Amino acid sequence: MPELLMVRGDITRRPVDAVVNAANSSLLGGGGVDGAIHRAAGPDLLHACRLLHGCKTGSAKATPGFRLPAKWIFHTVGPVWRGGNNGEPELLASCYRSCLDLAREHGAKSIAFPAISTGIYGYPKDQAAELAINTCRENAADIERVEFVCFDADTAEMYERLLVRG
Ligand code: ADP
Repeated sequence: MPELLMVRGDITRRPVDAVVNAANSSLLGGGGVDGAIHRAAGPDLLHACRLLHGCKTGSAKATPGFRLPAKWIFHTVGPVWRGGNNGEPELLASCYRSCLDLAREHGAKSIAFPAISTGIYGYPKDQAAELAINTCRENAADIERVEFVCFDADTAEMYERLLVRG
């Protein structure tokens, strides 16, 4: 079983094999964590992303980490919250699973996730945290360390509580 842990702070600084980006479907950069990752990784990241020709909601695509400490960046596109009856949970679970699949493919043993979809995309933070933890518990058997990187205090508190509860 992997070690699942909450880490408070900026995902661009995490010394892990792979960092996950909550991107939009163009993969050409945006605000929030996406903007932070592009700024920290440098302009080569945008060149690499252009070659990927976008990404579907629920899927993920890999690039190198460029100037990040991480070797890889897995770009995934979370669902926009539209009330919860439009496949949002399935699509969000698929984001986490797709990134864990990429980790396996690239031999990444440690991976750091942001709270996908819970910023601009409006997914309720508590529901997203529970789904993220459960999906990683069930699908990360061969990964050593899964970090949930929390930028704000209430997200951090939610993950802390859910991870302790087990
Ligand atoms: P989305 O469009 O998928 O909702 P956002 O980037 O708007 O993505 O937000 C996703 C989450 O990432 C939010 O909880 C936000 O607070 C968080 N976030 C923003 N910047 C960073 C960062 N540098 N490191 C980690 N998490 C971040």
